[in-house]
Amino acid sequence: VLEHTTPEGITWFQFASLAACDGLVTHGIFSRLGGVSAPPFASLNCATIVQDDPEAVAENRRRVAAVLPNLQLITTRPIHGSNVVEVLPETPGIAQPYMRVLDARADIMITRQRGLGLTWAYADCTPVLLVDPVHEAIALAHAGWRGTSQAVAVVAIEAMHASYGTRPSDVIAALGPAIGPCCYEVDEPVHAAFTAHPLASQHMFFSTLSITNQDGTSRESLRVDVLAANRSQLIAAGVRADHIEMSGFCTGCSTDLFFSHRVENGRTGRFAVVLGLR
Ligand SMILES: [Zn+2]
Repeated sequence: VLEHTTPEGITWFQFASLAACDGLVTHGIFSRLGGVSAPPFASLNCATIVQDDPEAVAENRRRVAAVLPNLQLITTRPIHGSNVVEVLPETPGIAQPYMRVLDARADIMITRQRGLGLTWAYADCTPVLLVDPVHEAIALAHAGWRGTSQAVAVVAIEAMHASYGTRPSDVIAALGPAIGPCCYEVDEPVHAAFTAHPLASQHMFFSTLSITNQDGTSRESLRVDVLAANRSQLIAAGVRADHIEMSGFCTGCSTDLFFSHRVENGRTGRFAVVLGLR
């Protein structure tokens, strides 16, 4: 990934593969640095749902929007499912400062419309960015463990195919910072959710670590690698392995740069990921 820092102190990243789609897309993976929110939301928190000061969130969103000019930031409330919403200028929603919030509840946004910045604010869930340079279409997906267990990345590819004629072999994909197995202990219901899904069950990236407790006893700890699962699902859907770029960041290991819901015990902010057509 490419790292940028603005004069105001906003550190943000871009995928080399998407930056190379020059003239077609604008995108940014924002860190938590360079905003105005106080702890535990320090500092570039872009979500209103986390009890942060709404004025601070508005200022943070203004700063994000200023880094990516000519994009109207648009989001929707994710529900950890696999619903798709096509984003058009007339798609119903409400205006917040520097952010349009669609009424639709969905974890996949797709569009061919220029100037609309598909945006979600993340803390551990996998940001899935998809670009079809042939049909000039994009998708952004929100893939936590629930979404990944419903193959949300594959649903996004299928939605692009149905709506725009996208061929998976043309898609440029990028997976943003998300929590890695090093930091993500899960329980049996998570494993069961993957097992129960016809597609997700073919892309199981579970492992077991032996953890030493403070009293010297040890226990088994179940881990899941949602980034690897999403990557594997995309390849199975026909995306070329050499067309998938990974950010390399685990949010849990990188709380200096990103918010991590798990590692920060649920009291933290959300960092913005934006993808739009120029
Ligand atoms: Zn980690």
